[in-house]
Amino acid sequence: MRTPATSARIDVVSPSTEAPIGSVPEAGDDDVDAAVQAARAAFTDPNGWAHWSPERRADAMERLAAELDARASETATAVSSQNGMPISIAQRLEAVFPQLLLRYYAGLIRDTSLEEVRPGLLGGSTLVTRQPIGVVAAVIPWNFPQTLTAFKYAPGLAAGCTFVIKPSPETVLDSYVFADAVRAAGIPDGVINIVPGGRELGAYLVSHPGIDKVAFTGSSVAGRQIAETCGRLLRPVTLELGGKSAAIILDDADLDLTKIGEQLFGATMLNNGQVCYLGTRILAPRSRYDEVVEVFTGLAQSLAVGDALDPATQIGPMVSARQRDRVESYIAKGKGDGATVTTGGGRPGGSDKGWFVEPTVFAGVDNNHTIAQEEIFGPVLSLISYDGDDEAIALANNSDFGLGGTVWTSDHDRAVSVARRVESGTVGINNYLPDPTAPFGGIKASGLGRELGPEALHAYLVPKSIYL
Ligand code: NAD
Repeated sequence: MRTPATSARIDVVSPSTEAPIGSVPEAGDDDVDAAVQAARAAFTDPNGWAHWSPERRADAMERLAAELDARASETATAVSSQNGMPISIAQRLEAVFPQLLLRYYAGLIRDTSLEEVRPGLLGGSTLVTRQPIGVVAAVIPWNFPQTLTAFKYAPGLAAGCTFVIKPSPETVLDSYVFADAVRAAGIPDGVINIVPGGRELGAYLVSHPGIDKVAFTGSSVAGRQIAETCGRLLRPVTLELGGKSAAIILDDADLDLTKIGEQLFGATMLNNGQVCYLGTRILAPRSRYDEVVEVFTGLAQSLAVGDALDPATQIGPMVSARQRDRVESYIAKGKGDGATVTTGGGRPGGSDKGWFVEPTVFAGVDNNHTIAQEEIFGPVLSLISYDGDDEAIALANNSDFGLGGTVWTSDHDRAVSVARRVESGTVGINNYLPDPTAPFGGIKASGLGRELGPEALHAYLVPKSIYL
């Protein structure tokens, strides 16, 4: 048991300038106990959230969406200043996606029948009802703090669950904006509780006896530890973990950057390369390999690197000095293994402040190299050559992970048939854009279970059969 002194605080530092930008109290185990108790009380209250009609919950969720709309700019600035996400991306995603999800799940719960009477085979009938699973522990990474929290609470609130949310210590300031919106929307006390803290606090929360389900997004290393805990406790768990997805360039792909530059960037280097699903292994047909190297080298060189709060910035800093060191150690490993840096590989010139890494492209990579097998979580691409579609698919599938992936081609049918053979939870064609209505998640070391879509709503409901 670990309880920080009541004076313990989390200090937040800007990755763009290394200046302190905020400080919040750090939760201790006793705060988790109180949060779980509040969530439990809100869940079991016979007049509380879980017992509200779906319509009433949906109305409250739409009020929360409106309150988040009103705080969109504050949210985007808080996220960008903490994790280095370019502000233009934070405005397009972090400030908008949670509301999209709240409105989607509000609509879905209104339209979903939670009860049915099934005629039985033995003479009677059964009332099959779906009830909320209970108190959910949501453990969140720093890379898309608001969106990935909403991936959990939007379907969970619709189902009638209550939440204890643990954000990452790197991104706690945006939690205050969110909490303010929750209160202003009139969501009852105890339905959403937030406990800022690190991994030990997360471990304490995940194993807490008052938790009914765990929803985790983060690294595969932490995911395995959480899965072990949940396995021991027989506690339902959703794990959205890391990735090392392949971008398969077929031999008929149109690689004109004026047409597809934005899509290629979004699918391979969005958010400074700090996105779980990015296709950072670029598989290129040998017949067009030099051209593909040129295209990605040009793309990386065209990107504006700078302060995350500058609207012109396309690549901001890594979230922390530790993360920059990690990315740089992978770059050194790539060079040591014999791959060639075609652009980047170092720190950008200019300011000596901020944890920046140049967008980096490696050519001559073997799929078995460390940089092609491990998640780097930075703006580093590995270009690998192949002969024929079968080899491309075999290379794509030769990975411990299976989260995302893309296929780039002018032939739609060929794209779909290649996508079907990629071992992965999601695949994009000539783009990669997760959609709220479709299940999102991974296989292999990329995780268990799915978020988004009606599938996620059902992950927060438990069926109960009442034999009539
Ligand atoms: P992380 O696993 O270090 O931390 C994620 C969260 O879990 C943090 O809140 C952390 O405090 C907490 N935590 C860490 N260890 C824990 C433990 N043993 N028990 C309970 N809580 C624990 O990951 P990160 O560095 O914050 O995020 C980057 C990782 O997240 C990358 O691997 C990335 O691929 C992954 N990610 C996955 C998805 C997805 O949807 N699949 C989305 C975004 C990020």
